Amino acid sequence: MSQPTLLPTALQPASDAHEVLRRVFGYDRFRGHQQEIIEHTAAGGDALVLMPTGGGKSLCYQIPTLLRHGVGIIVSPLIALMEDQVQALLQLGVRAAALNSTLSLDEVREVESALRTGELDLVYIAPERLTQERTLALLERSPLALFAIDEAHCVAQWGHDFRPEYLGLSVLAERFPSVPRIALTATADERTRQEIAQRLKLEHARVFISGFDRPNIRYRITEKRSAREQLLRFIQREHPDDAGIVYCLSRKKVEAVAEFLVSKGLNALPYHAGLPAEQRAANQERFIREEGLIMVATIAFGMGIDKPNVRFVAHLDLPKSLEAYYQETGRAGRDGLPANAWMAYGLQDVMTLRQMLEDSEAAESHKRVERYKLESMLAFCELTTCRRQALLKYFGEEMPAPCGNCDTCLEPVETWDATEAAQMALSCVYRTGQRFGVNHLIDVLVGKDNERIKQLRHDQLSTYGIGKQLDGTQWRSIFRQLVAHGLLTVDLDGYGGLRLTEACRPVLRGETRLELRKERPGKRTRSSRDSRLFDNPADEKLWNALRACRRRIAEEQGVPPYVIFHDATLKEMVEFRPDTEDQLRLLNGIGERKLALYGEAFLEAIREHL
Ligand code: ADP
Ligand code: ZN
Repeated sequence: MSQPTLLPTALQPASDAHEVLRRVFGYDRFRGHQQEIIEHTAAGGDALVLMPTGGGKSLCYQIPTLLRHGVGIIVSPLIALMEDQVQALLQLGVRAAALNSTLSLDEVREVESALRTGELDLVYIAPERLTQERTLALLERSPLALFAIDEAHCVAQWGHDFRPEYLGLSVLAERFPSVPRIALTATADERTRQEIAQRLKLEHARVFISGFDRPNIRYRITEKRSAREQLLRFIQREHPDDAGIVYCLSRKKVEAVAEFLVSKGLNALPYHAGLPAEQRAANQERFIREEGLIMVATIAFGMGIDKPNVRFVAHLDLPKSLEAYYQETGRAGRDGLPANAWMAYGLQDVMTLRQMLEDSEAAESHKRVERYKLESMLAFCELTTCRRQALLKYFGEEMPAPCGNCDTCLEPVETWDATEAAQMALSCVYRTGQRFGVNHLIDVLVGKDNERIKQLRHDQLSTYGIGKQLDGTQWRSIFRQLVAHGLLTVDLDGYGGLRLTEACRPVLRGETRLELRKERPGKRTRSSRDSRLFDNPADEKLWNALRACRRRIAEEQGVPPYVIFHDATLKEMVEFRPDTEDQLRLLNGIGERKLALYGEAFLEAIREHL
């Protein structure tokens, strides 16, 4: 934890935003709306900022704070996250601290007194602490530069991260009318945005909306066969030394997959709500601090994880909605370097989610929304056109041309006229009485000769053996797509029987034709390895040397490696091989303080390598 007594010396008064960007953060230019937001906020305006993950939201409040008189108060929901941010700022020479429950009474007093006298630049506070009368009174006696409300969607009940303690933040507008407030979120939808504005009393604030595209993330969805083996191959081929997150639906599966990866020699840990709190915290801490660790987790993991170099997010189960998919995959590649969003998806996923939805106790109106969201997610999986275009469109953004960085762009999917096959599948469901699962249906279609079929006398049906020209895998894909397209539905009794829906009539009657995806039989995707950072062994070697140098320094300082330098900065070192401090200074992410502290060590590492 930051000790107020160890504060770095104050920055020289900074003249303008660019100067701070360059000197403190080591970047040459602003991204997207950053400059406008910073100028607006620095001049005292309120702002509501919507920017995708990795878009650079932090600078939008950090720089205005440094430009204004007084202390910036940053509201942040997670203590682990605050500590990270504080460490990163201290590294840059910014006087930052956090006020939270992990501090001793003496430490709290020290931070509070530094706050009151304006000896700090930024203070991070959790919402429940901020809204206590005691804290509010303290703030009223302190010089304040601004309030920043990070993860502002936590105030919205419509969203999925609602935190009641955020509701109290409306008090800021009432008690501090002259202090500018800036709310930030990566949540895209209109309804959440309106709720944030209303609940935080930011209706008059200027709204800054950035595009939601994450161009460095490669979206890939592959047909599930043996999910774990597929995952293992994906990691071994494309991310052998990288940090990543693997999402699973259940706790049990999280444990099993983590164990499986470990048994294959990978560095993996489990994370789910059923683990003791200390273990969860310890696993999360290791994920943040170590390089190349894989976190196998339920969706309980990830909120507020700021690790910039998560190189992949893998889904072994289908997310419930595209909102969830976008948010979870968005944790990959915050640093802007290439990252993979990989998912294995199969018929069972569709059945499980449909069933969970129908079984839920929720009101019909709510179920309707959920159903719509699931339909959109399924349609996304079965797409034969650019995934990014579809994803952005769902969030209300048009992308004029296909992206060239998703699986359907890289390897166009073939479709085929599956009308006749679909008719066979549908009538097989009908003839067997609409109560059997897909395995049995396929056995009937391909004319299997087993006990069950004999007992049920399904070998007497007109659909018995009419589908011999296709194999089990192909039929499975057809059934999956029929369910995904809503022509079949899963029975409610819990045995996974399939039933016809109204929507299948036109197909059965031959009134409409049905185009389906042609599965690539077991072929591995071309994209293997080409999302890795270097293809040249010398570069790879230097990269590893630089990482080792960074790791050593990070351990000495007790901070995560990326707090010393981001991967993007190391990558530039590999590309440009600087050999003087002046050359080093030109790279992104090397400001004055880090140059002075670490420049020599990295130059040394580069020289040694050459
Ligand atoms: P967000 O909070 O929006 O997810 P961050 O503020 O963590 O994003 O920024 C994401 C990454 O982009 C960080 O590594 C940050 O240092 C970097 N970054 C932000 N702004 C710039 C910029 N103008 N130039 C270069 N890198 C930037
Ligand atoms: Zn695409």
